[in-house]
Amino acid sequence: MTGMTSSSRPLLNRRLTEFGTTIFAEMSALAVATGSINLGQGFPDRDGPEEIREAAVRALRDGRGNQYPPGPGVPELRAAIARHQARRYGLSYDPDTEVLVTAGATEAIAAALLALLEPGDEVVALEPYYDSYAACIAMAGASRVPVTLRPDPERARFRLDLDELRDAVTDRTRLLLINTPHNPTGTVLTRAELTAIAELAVERDLLVVTDEVYEHLVFDGAEHIPPATLPGMRERTVTIGSAGKTFSFTGWKVGWVTGAPDLVAAVRSAKQYLTYVASGPFQYAVAEALRLPDSYFEEFRADMLTKRDLLAGGLEQAGFTVFRPAGTYFITADVRPLGETDGFAFCRALPERAGVVAIPNAVFYDHKEAGAPYVRFAFCKRIEVLADATERLRKAFAH
Ligand code: PMP
Ligand code: GLN
Repeated sequence: MTGMTSSSRPLLNRRLTEFGTTIFAEMSALAVATGSINLGQGFPDRDGPEEIREAAVRALRDGRGNQYPPGPGVPELRAAIARHQARRYGLSYDPDTEVLVTAGATEAIAAALLALLEPGDEVVALEPYYDSYAACIAMAGASRVPVTLRPDPERARFRLDLDELRDAVTDRTRLLLINTPHNPTGTVLTRAELTAIAELAVERDLLVVTDEVYEHLVFDGAEHIPPATLPGMRERTVTIGSAGKTFSFTGWKVGWVTGAPDLVAAVRSAKQYLTYVASGPFQYAVAEALRLPDSYFEEFRADMLTKRDLLAGGLEQAGFTVFRPAGTYFITADVRPLGETDGFAFCRALPERAGVVAIPNAVFYDHKEAGAPYVRFAFCKRIEVLADATERLRKAFAH
């Protein structure tokens, strides 16, 4: 009877039937049930800086944020976000009219799409795409038009085909949904790719929503370039950030939106009726986190780089083809050298075979066949956990 009433009409509406349970919940449950090392869902296994945790405790004890904070976010945090965008990227935003605090990037994505789309609009999104994009586009009654990032064997990265992108835009396209650094491929879009995206957006008068939650996780000299910095883009771009990834507090759910006043006002209208507000005391703590010295961000990145190389090396030794990511804390690997073709079946069997959990990239694709051989491993885990996981994978697969 699950999902049915006595009149046998399905409970879950048609817009959402394809989005049962997220893969992250499913795979984390599998990790717990099998006692496997969970390299599936992307969350760090160690909390962020102690002084930021203390800042949250202090806010809570001092009675700051225990009642509804202001709808747009507490002024301290909005000011810190504006300062961060200005210092890092030279993007100047008015904290009162151009910054909005949200319940994680997840709410920012939902509010932006619900606010900016009419039913029937088309959204061009990079595929593979983070799973909430598809669900939020569907909730808005719009439709998604995926443009597939394709593996570039020469450069060992997934790249955007600019002709495919242009061809995906129609008269019904309202919005380009970008994610850089990109989950799950680890691609950091280059200046050339982003310039082409910006030119297309300007030429076709499109809105751009850009998810930059991994902005501080870029490696090997790659540069994170916010699309809003490119010519003609500031007035049409909603930029999304989050404290979850940058400060390793994914449970606090503090995210934000920056953009021109009319865009932020639109997103705020939708956001008011989703959570209204969230995470009161944590907002004060994140305001402090955003003011941490550059050394915090450098050490965080260096730590993740060590972990990336440990996991990438281990996966290579186990026999996978590895796309060493230029950004994020995920590695996409190809299972075909192991004699496998189906990443789904591979991930379902992996706990039994190796005691490790990974995510099949196919869940992030409409063109399932394009994602079939790829699986995603998260490396935001302690060194000893990654060492144990790679040892298990080597034992299971290397001959
Ligand atoms: N966007 C991407 C690309 C993500 O990987 C995630 C997961 N952290 C989110 C958005 C959601 O972020 P938050 O936890 O801040 O809601
Ligand atoms: N963003 C995280 C990931 O990609 C998980 C977020 C979630 O569980 N929804 O793994």
